[in-house]
Amino acid sequence: ATPTAVMVATGVGANNGVLIKGGDALERAQKVKYVIFDKTGTLTQGKATVTTVKVFTGMDRGEFLKLVASAEASSEHPLAKAIVQYARHFHFFDDPSVTNDAPNNNKETTTISGWLFDVSEFSALPGRGIQCFIDGKLTLVGNRKLMTESGIDIPTHVENFVVELEESAKTGILVAYEGNLIGVLGVADPLKREAAIVIEGLHKMGVIPVMVTGDNWRTAQAVAKEVGIQDVRAEVMPAGKADVIRSFQKDGSTVAMVGDGINDSPALAAADIGMAIGAGTDIAIEAADYVLMRNNLEDVITAIDLSRKTFSRIR
Ligand code: ADP
Ligand code: MG
Repeated sequence: ATPTAVMVATGVGANNGVLIKGGDALERAQKVKYVIFDKTGTLTQGKATVTTVKVFTGMDRGEFLKLVASAEASSEHPLAKAIVQYARHFHFFDDPSVTNDAPNNNKETTTISGWLFDVSEFSALPGRGIQCFIDGKLTLVGNRKLMTESGIDIPTHVENFVVELEESAKTGILVAYEGNLIGVLGVADPLKREAAIVIEGLHKMGVIPVMVTGDNWRTAQAVAKEVGIQDVRAEVMPAGKADVIRSFQKDGSTVAMVGDGINDSPALAAADIGMAIGAGTDIAIEAADYVLMRNNLEDVITAIDLSRKTFSRIR
């Protein structure tokens, strides 16, 4: 392609909200064999909502939610935000169903800490959850790995409850207090509307879609099945996503990565073509070669098409 053709293609991309950082990135996209999608916030809407609250002890539901929200209040994780928001509505309105569209959402956020327990020694444990002390007692909120690593026993009835959540594509979050597993939350994050059609489109173009996530295997597989992806890599620690990219590149294949999170930036950089969701974090956008400004996954196809058309030898 001539420099003019590249310039025109870059302009066409920009008009469609596909920002391309340079002609090399534009050229590489035509050869893409695998597109690796992050799950949360990329294939899914990234709007996690608490759907289930189960307390296994005699603890009052409101008290349980207050405890979990207190523990999660300092976390930036989308799951933490969903939990705090749900608990806040439960606390103030006793009506969590208004979770997403509360009219004075922002105003409430500013008063967030007033109603919570005091927390000390908070720490975020990437890929696992969080830990802190509440009333001098160790409080853990996260996945099985977190519980196992901390020596918390997961009774069979709790495990069964979590499995059930995961099989319906939800993420199960376990809560331990003072060494005991006291409850579980179920969180759902719906697929983006266009996700399934884009996956189908990629298959038709001869491109293989793959999902990579830090979430557990069962939830990941349920989501993958819903969206039409056969190849799933789950329970990948934040540092591991770039390794997944490299494993696909080993035989010389051209690999694209689509992601939105801080966790995704090493993988976006490692990929031959890094595509960041425009609504994603700045670090992801910086690491990427393409930015999909419309936050619409159809633009993954637009980007590959544009490259194929620009560099096709057929006239
Ligand atoms: P993802 O690829 O889905 O963004 P993360 O590495 O951020 O994955 O998280 C992986 C898993 O770790 C989550 O699915 C959840 O089980 C657990 N986790 C991480 N942070 C938190 C948190 N603040 N509260 C509860 N669970 C968490
Ligand atoms: Mg994400």
